[in-house]
Amino acid sequence: MNFYFISYNFILFTNLFLCDKIIVVKTRYLKFTESDLHTAGELIRAGELVGFPTETVYGLGADALNESAVRKTYVAKGRPSDNPLIVHIFDKSQIYDVASDVSPLAQIVIERVMPAPITVVLPKKPVIKGIVTAGLPSVAIRMPQSDEARRFLRAAATPVSAPSANISGRPSPTTWQRVKEDMDGKIAAVLCGEPCKVGIESTVLDLSRDEPVVLRPGAISAEFLSELLGVEVKVLTDPSSKVNSPGVRYKHYAPNVPMVLELDGDADKLCAFYDARLAEGYKPVLWVQRPMLFGGRRAVGMGANDMEAAANLFETMRMLEARYNYIIASFCWRGGTSFDGPASRGVLDRLMRACGHNII
Ligand code: AMP
Ligand code: MG
Repeated sequence: MNFYFISYNFILFTNLFLCDKIIVVKTRYLKFTESDLHTAGELIRAGELVGFPTETVYGLGADALNESAVRKTYVAKGRPSDNPLIVHIFDKSQIYDVASDVSPLAQIVIERVMPAPITVVLPKKPVIKGIVTAGLPSVAIRMPQSDEARRFLRAAATPVSAPSANISGRPSPTTWQRVKEDMDGKIAAVLCGEPCKVGIESTVLDLSRDEPVVLRPGAISAEFLSELLGVEVKVLTDPSSKVNSPGVRYKHYAPNVPMVLELDGDADKLCAFYDARLAEGYKPVLWVQRPMLFGGRRAVGMGANDMEAAANLFETMRMLEARYNYIIASFCWRGGTSFDGPASRGVLDRLMRACGHNII
């Protein structure tokens, strides 16, 4: 408790101190032309921040080898300095520039899965400083599948550290317009590419310990990785546990209106909850797998399956918070439904965090 208090104040102090250095800039909106890509690469090498598309979410890129550039990332996002960044590469050979040890299991993932929406955590080389890894001895590395992302990374010609390009705590951006909403005037440029196809952040697979562990679920599932590696790949937290402790846990990806989550697909319960909020004067919305079940009530669909739900997730969250003032989400992913697929745990994890684990 004491330690938490001290470190929190330290983070606050650090951020306040860094905030002094925020300078309002005119953000440039670049396209995927050769000359704009060249400009984006130059900006990275000059120590500036550039927003860029990947298949997961838009990233906020900085030269991972330039400490003062990386520091700007935390300022622009208002991100606590104890939350590490992912180092992005365009070529597998770059892994050996930043990781000090690539285990046989890591080699399988690198050879057989990358490029993909997966991040591997490996012991770091000294060239990667503590500002990137939040003081950890390991570094998170990702080679995006997105062509646009790799063209940008090639133009940067240096490993690029990047978190998601949203203000800390807000839903991640999956279009360049959402990056503009959060980052305009705070960063040098945004590369305006396609909407993100996967839509949730990468699976983070820790391969720096004795046993591989998924630290954050994404579209590459632990089941797939277990089969590939021939060893059990555990998931650090079980997102399906129904913890009801609003305000206690760290909130993430949160909309700016109240949100609750239901996990059984119980239409009667959802209708009753909706009607009670309506009676209290709210303008609620149901965010559900089958919106036609709720006749007369405002209901928005999540998509036909878990992959579609992932692709739509953050964009729908931002759309709903703009139009309604109470989000009642329902996600029932077990039992061989079309939502019981590779991205189901990732979607569930983001929904749980978005509602602050407020399960009804
Ligand atoms: P973001 O892309 O904004 O979701 O942030 C990057 C995330 O990657 C962090 O929040 C961590 O979950 C994860 N990450 C980055 N570096 C490490 C590391 N060295 N060890 C474990 N997780 C990491
Ligand atoms: Mg993020």
